[in-house]
Amino acid sequence: MTQGKTMVVKLGTSVLTRGTPRLNQAHMMELVRCCARARRDGHRIILVSSGAIAAGRERLGHPSLPPTVASKQMLAAVGQIRLIQTWERLFSIHELRIGQMLLTRADLEDRERFLNARDMLQALLENGIIPVINENDAVATAEIKVGDNDNLSALAAILADADLLLLLTDQEGLYTADPRSHPEARLIPTVERIDETVHRLAGGGGSGQGTGGMITKIQAARVAVRAGISVVIADGSDPGIMEEILAGRSAGTFFSAEASPLERRKRWLYGAPPAGDLTVDAGAAAALTKGKRSLLPKGITRVSGAFSRGEVVRILDPSDGELARGVARYNSDALSLIAGRHSAEIRTVLGYAYGSVAVHRDDLILTGDPHGH
Ligand code: GLU
Repeated sequence: MTQGKTMVVKLGTSVLTRGTPRLNQAHMMELVRCCARARRDGHRIILVSSGAIAAGRERLGHPSLPPTVASKQMLAAVGQIRLIQTWERLFSIHELRIGQMLLTRADLEDRERFLNARDMLQALLENGIIPVINENDAVATAEIKVGDNDNLSALAAILADADLLLLLTDQEGLYTADPRSHPEARLIPTVERIDETVHRLAGGGGSGQGTGGMITKIQAARVAVRAGISVVIADGSDPGIMEEILAGRSAGTFFSAEASPLERRKRWLYGAPPAGDLTVDAGAAAALTKGKRSLLPKGITRVSGAFSRGEVVRILDPSDGELARGVARYNSDALSLIAGRHSAEIRTVLGYAYGSVAVHRDDLILTGDPHGH
């Protein structure tokens, strides 16, 4: 493990086009250079890149289209290719590989699909690949859309277990009033709590061709800080800001995290009703309580209840005392088949594998110890 941080960087359309009707490749190149430098310093970067619709308009020569969902989907279908090709080419200059993830709300709301998306994102990061995320605009209709990339980036930061979410935009941060109409407006360097006043300050703001204004940024910040992720809203015209923020220097407006992601996730476990039980042998019980290890299928002696992957289960010791609660990485049918077996056999027995553990340490709390230590 490196000491580096995991940071989601959201790039708004206005940052990528610099307010023009086309992608500004020179600016994108600068952004890539900064990502490459952050990588060399041991940080993990995830991009949430807007700009598909703008790139589609550019590619098709700015056609006049009826203002329908289908027109937007068409522009996104054309533009996403151009957008991702541009990122691919620019990152290749630095010998870096990217992986495209197109998400919709439906991928993130269902617990099982959320876990699948999380595993895939982690796989990219573990293999040193830079995820480049956008909403799957070409297929997303209003019902399944997140709708704006600010909120999408907050969800991506949760998926990635990020330390930081950086929202790059065409404003320097959150101001005491709209700086375009109020020259006396001052930049707010730090927001401790996102309350009504903050929401009011964010009213109005918003520019150009992107979807989000300051309001969606504040919504996104709220989601992220509650999940234990700090947020910065800053000016994307100077890509060097990424380094400043990773180095812990202040820039733009900083929103501090309310809890660490781990604490937050574990607290959630207390509230979720258990959907089944896993009884474990004495060795596994000791590994969980004393060794602070994950639960492997090998240590499971009995599976009760019918549950899906992603649901919370109780973990019981050999005399049925509750030891812990955690999120099952396999459903109950699968666990019944692999219980007592070595993790290396999972793929042979099931024909697929979601990793070697039945319940991961990070998704587990020891019951009776409210801090989950
Ligand atoms: N997903 C949209 C795009 O790539 C942008 C949405 C937004 O700007 O918030 O064009």
